[in-house]
Amino acid sequence: MNEPIDTIITGTRVFDGTGFLPTGTALGVGGGVIRHIGAVPDGLPGACRVINGNNLILTPAFIDTHNHGDYHCVDPGNDGVSSLAQGVGTLIVGNCGYSSTPPGAVHPVLMPQEGAHNAPLYEHLKELAGGLVLGIGDLLGHNTLRRHVLGEPRAANAAEIERMCGLLDEFLSAGGMGLSVGLNYPEATGYSKSEMVALSRVLARRGRPLTAHIADQGAGILGSIEAVAAWGDIAGCPVLISHMRPISDRYDHLLDAIFNIFETRGQARFDLYPYAAGFTTLGWLFSYLFQTSPSATGRLPAIELEEAVFGVCIGGFDDVRVLASSFPDANGKSIGAIARALQRPAGETAQDIYIADPATVCLYERESRPQTIDRIISHPLCLIGSDGYLFGHNHAGPCHPRSYGAFAGFIERYALTGKVACEAALRRMTSEAADFFSLADRGRIAVGLRADLALFDWDKVGESAGEDGASRIAHGVDMTMISGRVAYRGGHGATGLRSGSRATPLADFT
Ligand SMILES: [Zn+2]
Repeated sequence: MNEPIDTIITGTRVFDGTGFLPTGTALGVGGGVIRHIGAVPDGLPGACRVINGNNLILTPAFIDTHNHGDYHCVDPGNDGVSSLAQGVGTLIVGNCGYSSTPPGAVHPVLMPQEGAHNAPLYEHLKELAGGLVLGIGDLLGHNTLRRHVLGEPRAANAAEIERMCGLLDEFLSAGGMGLSVGLNYPEATGYSKSEMVALSRVLARRGRPLTAHIADQGAGILGSIEAVAAWGDIAGCPVLISHMRPISDRYDHLLDAIFNIFETRGQARFDLYPYAAGFTTLGWLFSYLFQTSPSATGRLPAIELEEAVFGVCIGGFDDVRVLASSFPDANGKSIGAIARALQRPAGETAQDIYIADPATVCLYERESRPQTIDRIISHPLCLIGSDGYLFGHNHAGPCHPRSYGAFAGFIERYALTGKVACEAALRRMTSEAADFFSLADRGRIAVGLRADLALFDWDKVGESAGEDGASRIAHGVDMTMISGRVAYRGGHGATGLRSGSRATPLADFT
């Protein structure tokens, strides 16, 4: 298959995923694939489109190693502008133990839109087979798998572990990327080392990774990371620790020991987004701290709650900002401020808000100190994972800025300021992410690889999303191309073209 060149991109500075190519390098794209790298070739067909890059930087489109857009990416009404506007061309979904296959109830962690559903593998593959706005690599969620096999949160017996291993193997043989675990969620209850090692051995046979939302990011963070790393060691599979950071700053002194776990292993990495804030339901806070939720008849001790919140956010309830709730006059304000206005203890106010609206979502500001985020994200083994969703131009409603700004923010606050060298920053978002997930057809600019490209004005890249929860797309990206088609144009938005497809490990694309 040697299709003619249909598009030439000239006048850019080409970063090929590992370093910059000499000035004057042009790219020829044909049939969705990079066909030529070098001087502009002679004898181009008359219909060939020429894109003048205006001295902007051309890189492989970025790979988001941690995204929760499982349901969003198959929604035909979603144009994916939140990621495309940042130059992101591939999302790894199925994280934190939750995926859209095998069948079962949809999970709130994935922010399901209307009509979202879990499907058997054959149907899941059909849904991902075409018509995506960008590339999607999918992990199998361990919690979703457990719910399917066990029905309820409990320990699995040997036969059930074998069944889970069989389903994982089937998923991997169909091109799945690996397995994700979410060990602090209820469905993981009763998991055992033998279960985890058995599943990791299935991964190891194909060289696929185990990605982990660990059991404890607080006092037990070190042991939690060590446990996952040990499963990887025993089985021989790569390990990726998701959104890796201590919560809160009380455990920052463990960072050197944490880094040491990764630095002494060949196949272990971590990912993070460039924010000190987290985002989830208000209900999560109660179950995290007290393993139960308050109700009108059973309230939690308010003083103890107020104390315990300092173990999550540095500023306690002053750092827990309500983004969406039907509780009167709460949205946009911290629970501390709401409580002062009502002249009521914050520990009671938090429960009042939850009881009035159990679906209340909050931004948990300052779960870490900014300096801690700087240290972790500047570490050479850190990949960039937004932990966000895939949102279209018509998305309304509150969200953490990471969906719209993790990649633009990383460039703006780390690469442009020199905290991370430009080439190292670009490598971690492209070739290193592709290598970790064995994605052979992307993450680099080379003849024969997929034409997933990002063209951007390096000095102007930045995020527009604020921590007020508003949805604003990033700026500075001029064009994002997916399989040779323009999927996003700066100033115009997403084009709505659906030229993406499922990303599979070691795909022989040419
Ligand atoms: Zn997670």
